[in-house]
Amino acid sequence: MDTEGSQISRHGGVAPPAPSVRRLHFDVGARPFLVLVELTRACDLACRHCRAESVRDRDPAELTTAELTALLDDLASLGAPRPRVVFTGGDPFHRPDLEELVRHGSSAGLSVAVSPAGTPRATAERFGALRRAGAVAASLSIDGAGPSTHDAFRRVDGSFDWTVQACRAAVAAGLRLQVNTTVSRETVADLPGIARLVADLAVVMWSVFFVVPVGRAEQLQPLGADETEDVLHFLHELAPRVPLKTTEAPAYRRVMLEGEAGGHSAWRPGPLFDELHARLRAIWPEALDPEAPGRRVHDGRRRAPLSVGDGRGVVFVSHVGDVQPSGFLPLVAGNVRERPLTSLYRDSPLLRSLRDPARLGGRCGRCDYADSCGGSRSQAYGRSGDPLGEDASCAYVP
Ligand code: SF4
Repeated sequence: MDTEGSQISRHGGVAPPAPSVRRLHFDVGARPFLVLVELTRACDLACRHCRAESVRDRDPAELTTAELTALLDDLASLGAPRPRVVFTGGDPFHRPDLEELVRHGSSAGLSVAVSPAGTPRATAERFGALRRAGAVAASLSIDGAGPSTHDAFRRVDGSFDWTVQACRAAVAAGLRLQVNTTVSRETVADLPGIARLVADLAVVMWSVFFVVPVGRAEQLQPLGADETEDVLHFLHELAPRVPLKTTEAPAYRRVMLEGEAGGHSAWRPGPLFDELHARLRAIWPEALDPEAPGRRVHDGRRRAPLSVGDGRGVVFVSHVGDVQPSGFLPLVAGNVRERPLTSLYRDSPLLRSLRDPARLGGRCGRCDYADSCGGSRSQAYGRSGDPLGEDASCAYVP
């Protein structure tokens, strides 16, 4: 979800001097910034990239309402600045207690967002109820510029139209909208069209997620490191037009820092960058000119990414209470049924190791940008089995 907020300061701590990576005011070793809570794995879709390997029916072993309210109380007990909470799935709209949970978290002072699936369950009435319960934001996934790509990816005809309607309903209900897009070989060519669509939808954030080979996504084709680099540079060009961030590709921070420092010395545009550029120029030429009049969804400045990552400010709780560094890194630090999340987050050896740049291996371990980037620990684990290894999705050679 949107990670902008008052808990953030703009100052870099790495060479070169960098105003373009934001850091938190508080110690991410002591409290998380963002907690993703998987309420259920039940979902009416069967998406090709689904981390949760969603199923039709709810699991009887899901965390109960009482267990989830206890989890929210535990997080609220940290006091300000309290973590942000995202209810995710599966599809959280399968939980009849969703509004009750949102109300409980909001009343306790937590900022609560919901990440539903784009299905007929995502109605204007349901978004209105979420807003009245205190939710501040919603995120929905769009993986194609139109029905042909998106519906094939989601494997349900009609899901593109449902999702776009749901986006409009969420905004109309007063929720801040984030759109999530999965990048793989199957979807990458649609990025220019999706960029134009999210601008039309008035998103507060476009989260571009680089597929991690876990769950059903093992069947997808992740981009190679050089292709990923081309996409990161393409996004960097788009950033003055669309508020965006990357997920599981923190090397975007390095691309921004290099840009701030005066250029990208080692990178030369590859065929994928040229293709994306040409497609964007054909459908939305002013997007590549920050000074051009026309559609602009924010103030024209590139939005600085936040220096947090898997287990380092971000933590995931599965539908049965397992605590993981991320939903894409299936190593378990403990279970909230046995120990409070705040305690597990602080003390788990697994999470502590992921917060220590000195423990990183390979290129990430000797990289100038390890402190601000550190590589995606999920990509490292998904591609090598070592969560502290190098992020092989990054092309940078320190
Ligand atoms: S080598 Fe690792 S730490 Fe350095 S930019 Fe790439 S992913 Fe980030």
